Amino acid sequence: MSGEVRELREVATWSDSADVVVVGLGAAGAAVALEASGTGAETLVLERAAAGGGTSAMSGGVLYLGGGTALQKACGFEDSCEAMYAYLMASCGDSPDEAKVRLYCEGSCEHYAWLVAQGVPFKPVFYDGCSGEPPTDDGLVWSGSERAHPFCELARPAPRGHVPQLEHQAGPMLMRALLAAVAASSARVAAGQRCTALVRDDSGGVVGVIASGERAIRARRGVVLTTGGFIHNDAMLAAHQPLLTRCKFRVGAEGDDGSGIRLGMAVGAGTVRMNAASISLPVTQPWGLRRGILVNSQGQRFVNEDAYYGCLGERALLSHGGRAWLVVDDAIFEQPEYPRNVAAVGESPTELARELGLPPGSLESTLALYNLHAARAEDPVFRKAREYVVALETPPFGAFDCTTEGSLYAAFTLGGLRTDPDGQVLDPEGRPISGLFAAGRCTSGLSVGGYSSGISLGDGTFFGRRAGRSAARA
Ligand SMILES: Cc1cc2nc3c(=O)[nH]c(=O)nc-3n(C[C@H](O)[C@H](O)[C@H](O)COP(=O)(O)OP(=O)(O)OC[C@H]3O[C@@H](n4cnc5c(N)ncnc54)[C@H](O)[C@@H]3O)c2cc1C
Repeated sequence: MSGEVRELREVATWSDSADVVVVGLGAAGAAVALEASGTGAETLVLERAAAGGGTSAMSGGVLYLGGGTALQKACGFEDSCEAMYAYLMASCGDSPDEAKVRLYCEGSCEHYAWLVAQGVPFKPVFYDGCSGEPPTDDGLVWSGSERAHPFCELARPAPRGHVPQLEHQAGPMLMRALLAAVAASSARVAAGQRCTALVRDDSGGVVGVIASGERAIRARRGVVLTTGGFIHNDAMLAAHQPLLTRCKFRVGAEGDDGSGIRLGMAVGAGTVRMNAASISLPVTQPWGLRRGILVNSQGQRFVNEDAYYGCLGERALLSHGGRAWLVVDDAIFEQPEYPRNVAAVGESPTELARELGLPPGSLESTLALYNLHAARAEDPVFRKAREYVVALETPPFGAFDCTTEGSLYAAFTLGGLRTDPDGQVLDPEGRPISGLFAAGRCTSGLSVGGYSSGISLGDGTFFGRRAGRSAARA
């Protein structure tokens, strides 16, 4: 499963050269190219597709930023670096990289200003009522679990989803602006160039790449890998997180085949949290459906339903094998965005449970306990916010299908190459691999589980900029 490596002595002639060679032109690659070329380093970007964009151009375009950005202020929200740090450290999985989270929070306001300076437009209007990309062209949204237990008790919530100004899916707008900025910079872009191997010298340092047609390209200062994740590589998924193969929607352009991770591993790079993934189950959009209860195949709840839908998907798939249903009553019934499949309807909880094939009595006792506390708008079991806690007792009862077979689980990988906060690729012992840098989803970034929308584009561009600067100085 590893990529290829070529020894320097095997290279007869170089076809091209640059100070910094960037492999892959999505959001992370664009950020690398802009910063590396901005320092005066001769920069060459190799992109395997016919043009840049990658998964970033297909995305919702949400960037997770905060700490009091100009956009947050313009929309009337207060935020602080400390609150953002506390939220990210608590929500981004077990033991996220503290140094990266700290730098990201401290640099978030400046990073927003940088995006604006590159020509990314943000409309200073807050859109309430959705998690992640809004249906409008508004600029600020909630995009995580900030207002849900336990996070609301750990950090003052603030909306941090920054969305470029384009309706529905703003990724194309983000990439239009970043690619235009790259085109206006001194960086050269070579499309249709797939990198197939790294070139290594006798000391083990990376000094170039091999691209399509066996072209050897020399990197005088550094190679930066920004090739995206590996959601389209079944062998890598089978090795690291086989449950992802059950997800109906693999979120990624075809370039997300893990090639950059394998290229890095071939020269000795370490990897981090290769099992981590963003897994969205957007069953609680519109938010009124947060009043339902999500149950597993034992008829038991397993999460506070007001958590971000990425949290619901992660729990449902990784802890319950993708066997889940959202139970509602007639009073709160409305159509979710996804799934639209009603798995069963019953005049009573017992009839519904029978239709779903749940163990006798399980759903009934779950509902009885939930309704007992809901009478006081309380949820002492999972601590869902009061506004979403109502007794479910109006027949008929229904269950939306949240199984992997009947619903949309949208997944992409979060694990990847081990890097320091400057994008330097490290070996498994933490030693730098000379000449090799990386950013974006071919690396492990802020989230090592527990994803909030906007973290991928946010950390990819933020740490991409840092990688570009450090490669240019190398
Ligand atoms: C529908 C959808 C919605 C999403 N919404 C959001 C969102 O709102 N916010 C958010 O943060 N994330 C979102 N994501 C996830 C996010 O888009 C990706 O995680 C992110 O774009 C990854 O950026 P990247 O620069 O690392 O990789 P990419 O953007 O995938 O760029 C990698 C580039 O490298 C090229 N490449 C790959 N291998 C090679 C090679 N060997 N040689 C040369 N070139 C190569 C690829 O062709 C590609 O152009 C969404 C994704 C989708 C599909």
